Amino acid sequence: MAARASEFDLIARIRARIAVRDDVMLGIGDDAAILVPPPDRHLVVAMDTLNAGVHFPAETAAADIGWKALAVNLSDLAAMGAQPAWCTLSLSLPQSDAAWIDAFLDGFLALAAQHAVALVGGDTTRGPLSVCVTAHGLIEPRGALRRDGARVDDDVWVTGTLGDAAGALRQWRAGEAIDATLRARLDRPTPRVAAGRALAGIAHACIDVSDGLLADLGHVCAMSRVGAEIDIDALPASDALRAACDRATLRALQAAGGDDYELCFTAPKTARLAVQAAMDCCDVAATRIGRIVAADAGRIVVRDATGVEWSPPARGYDHFVD
Ligand code: ADP
Ligand code: MG
Repeated sequence: MAARASEFDLIARIRARIAVRDDVMLGIGDDAAILVPPPDRHLVVAMDTLNAGVHFPAETAAADIGWKALAVNLSDLAAMGAQPAWCTLSLSLPQSDAAWIDAFLDGFLALAAQHAVALVGGDTTRGPLSVCVTAHGLIEPRGALRRDGARVDDDVWVTGTLGDAAGALRQWRAGEAIDATLRARLDRPTPRVAAGRALAGIAHACIDVSDGLLADLGHVCAMSRVGAEIDIDALPASDALRAACDRATLRALQAAGGDDYELCFTAPKTARLAVQAAMDCCDVAATRIGRIVAADAGRIVVRDATGVEWSPPARGYDHFVD
């Protein structure tokens, strides 16, 4: 049986491993943290929760849960164009298990180190397995990539590839062997932090693809009071996903699968070279997948390469509908 530790032992294990930053005046250990943001930056705050059985299969490895809990939050900061700085962590655990915490921290802190993010506080309670992270980032005043900035005639772009995580989940639900490349995309998503930073000043609007491309692009269009036309055959797919499913499934996973944590953004046609240069600088692929049009706010029309309209089986994931 796993060794039992007290709440304070668990917090001490966390505290022993965290990295420091000069702008953390007071970190874990007091009633609250004290942070010192630079005077010429605005603070950007995001929070996301992962619940066992809802956001990840209950048997997911602790290290992968740790990685993903931070990754989904850094992805939200990336979608704003913000530079991550600090985070807090609320852990609800069915039992106090020091080995689980250590493994969880392996994943969480590996990603935190990649982005120089300091864990500055949190809460530790007993209950069903649930991990809630708040991430704090910094941004130049008026530099944020918002959802409401898309304009008619903008290109619509997406980073990386779409549908991989949903492909892994589909194999898992079907009881099939899960392709290792797809599984890594589900368990260890890459938040596009550098890409988000590079797009500030170039993109008009941006969102991270967490619920599914059409659902998330729909939010951008609704808030920008525009529509979009998307070319389904232009959506970037990995070789692993192409090998794992037929064309109809591929399209559905890419358009609505979710859990991609890629950035979907709009930019003026005149900025095509600037977008490519910005993406080259951070070694991220970006693909043009359609355009913003004057239409009912939030309306997205999807066509294949021959111009025939394609109806998605769903637009994306909704916690209270699906
Ligand atoms: P309080 O009862 O005053 O809220 P806690 O015992 O919850 O204090 O927390 C003590 C310290 O440990 C605080 O600084 C808190 O931010 C930190 N802490 C608690 N749980 C976590 C966690 N899961 N991750 C990081 N810091 C934590
Ligand atoms: Mg507390």
